[in-house]
Amino acid sequence: MAERNEVDWVSRFADEVIAEAERRGSGKPIVCASGLSPSGPIHLGNLREVMTPHLVADEIRRRGYECVHLLSWDDYDRFRKVPAGVDPSWAEHIGKPLTTVPAPTGSPYATWAEHFKAPMVAALKELGIEVHGISQTERYTSGAYRDQILLAMRERGRIDAVLGRYRTKAKPGAVVPQGADEASQEAALAAAEGSGAATEDDGATAAGYFPYKPYCSFCDKDTTTVTSYDEETTEMSYVCANGHAETVLLSEHNRGKLVWKVDWPMRWAYEGVVFEPSGVDHSSPGSSFVVGGQLVREVFGQDPPIGPMYAFVGISGMAKMSSSRGAVPTPADALEIMEAPVLRWLYARRRPNQSFKIAFDQEIYRLYDEWDTLGRKIEDGSAPPADVAAFGRAARTATGELPRTPRPVPYRTLASIVDVTTGHEEQILRILRDLDPAHPVSSLAEVRPRLDRAQAWVETKMDADQRTQVREEPDTALLAGLGDTERNMLRLLLEGLDAHWSLEGLTELVYGVPKLQQGLSLDAPPTPEIKVAQRAFFALLYHLLVGGDTGPRLPTLLLAVGAARIRKLLSA
Ligand SMILES: [Zn+2]
Repeated sequence: MAERNEVDWVSRFADEVIAEAERRGSGKPIVCASGLSPSGPIHLGNLREVMTPHLVADEIRRRGYECVHLLSWDDYDRFRKVPAGVDPSWAEHIGKPLTTVPAPTGSPYATWAEHFKAPMVAALKELGIEVHGISQTERYTSGAYRDQILLAMRERGRIDAVLGRYRTKAKPGAVVPQGADEASQEAALAAAEGSGAATEDDGATAAGYFPYKPYCSFCDKDTTTVTSYDEETTEMSYVCANGHAETVLLSEHNRGKLVWKVDWPMRWAYEGVVFEPSGVDHSSPGSSFVVGGQLVREVFGQDPPIGPMYAFVGISGMAKMSSSRGAVPTPADALEIMEAPVLRWLYARRRPNQSFKIAFDQEIYRLYDEWDTLGRKIEDGSAPPADVAAFGRAARTATGELPRTPRPVPYRTLASIVDVTTGHEEQILRILRDLDPAHPVSSLAEVRPRLDRAQAWVETKMDADQRTQVREEPDTALLAGLGDTERNMLRLLLEGLDAHWSLEGLTELVYGVPKLQQGLSLDAPPTPEIKVAQRAFFALLYHLLVGGDTGPRLPTLLLAVGAARIRKLLSA
């Protein structure tokens, strides 16, 4: 048992969480938690907020314990600003809950919150991450937190004192690794901002300290100030910056929320959270996690969760993306170019406090090579235990296997085939069949979904100068300077095209033309002299077709280029 539990960071946290849950002795399923704000696109950087507790919760389930992974949607947060690209008239909604702001124009969803939740929910499903989603709007407006809100208001003096211990300390902010490029820094800041917490006021008013902030009953905005509160009757008065005023009974009022630094520990206690990690922006001195740890003990009577700080996740190939698309990528963007197990693996193999980068550039070739190498080592039993564990966490969850590509043809090979065929499925399949004639790929399904990911990568991420550029016009200068032997070889190739229009046929033809030129048959065994002539002939073809010394395999290239264009480019 001990041996198994020390395999990796996930096992160690699972040990701690199980021990802590047993110490608390609630008798209920163990609770791991994450929180996300649907205030805008949910960036790939925020995936660690969900992936870290997912992996721990999954390990706990694998050991046979009941475990719930709560995903709290902070959709009752205020709409803070109108992002670039959205109609400026949305400014009239600033200060309203995200669930009452209309979705951006053209969205199939009714509200801002639903619009930004939906792609994340879909991505989590594809990643095999099972969560129990909680809408904070639903919780607050149903009065679920009534007792906790009344308690916090009763204990407001104590809360104010705890917050006061930290108010003079430095303001927390996003921590970005040294040397991160500008675009990655932007992503880190955007990810930190996503919580919406760092800049929120903590409830201090001229009339005293109140941890509860109502949304105005008249204009729906949180530009309100509590002016008085009577603990006996729970009568609360507030004024609104838009000139509204109201007196309500807090024991019946369901339009408002606790300020973030009180809201978070309240929910730890309400849900009995045992594990919830936090980003670096929430873990510095005076930050929400530290203050929340004090408040949950002193006000809500529970211990704080085990809460490791997780480090920044960067993106390689980011600078290019942000300039071309104006936005940092989301988990859905990553899943377009890599399979779910590979994305899971990136998180599983690194401890939460280690930062790493997710490859959107050509580094993805190496990432996939490493993944395939590990897969082979696991098959032959030579992988170290920690690597076996990480692979297992990536490839399956407690409830089952994630979809995997049956034939793991190297990603770089698939990308090259897609590039040269410009995604033509019939040609892709024909080329794939030729890769390993002894065990031919018989359908594209065998190489999917990896093929689709490689195709998306080529189409959206591959550098223009990496793409195979077939010449538009013949290289007339080169053609004019050719000698009789070369001209004759090109003619033999063009004459043979129609009869050899298959991958195999073209292979025979391109290798055979130098033989025909020397008076031998197409299938004559190659001599050293023939091999030299073949290499020279291939170099000539590359220059004439793609303007370089090398390129994709010639038969592949010829099939992709098409007979008419070949004739145009090679006719001397
Ligand atoms: Zn108002």
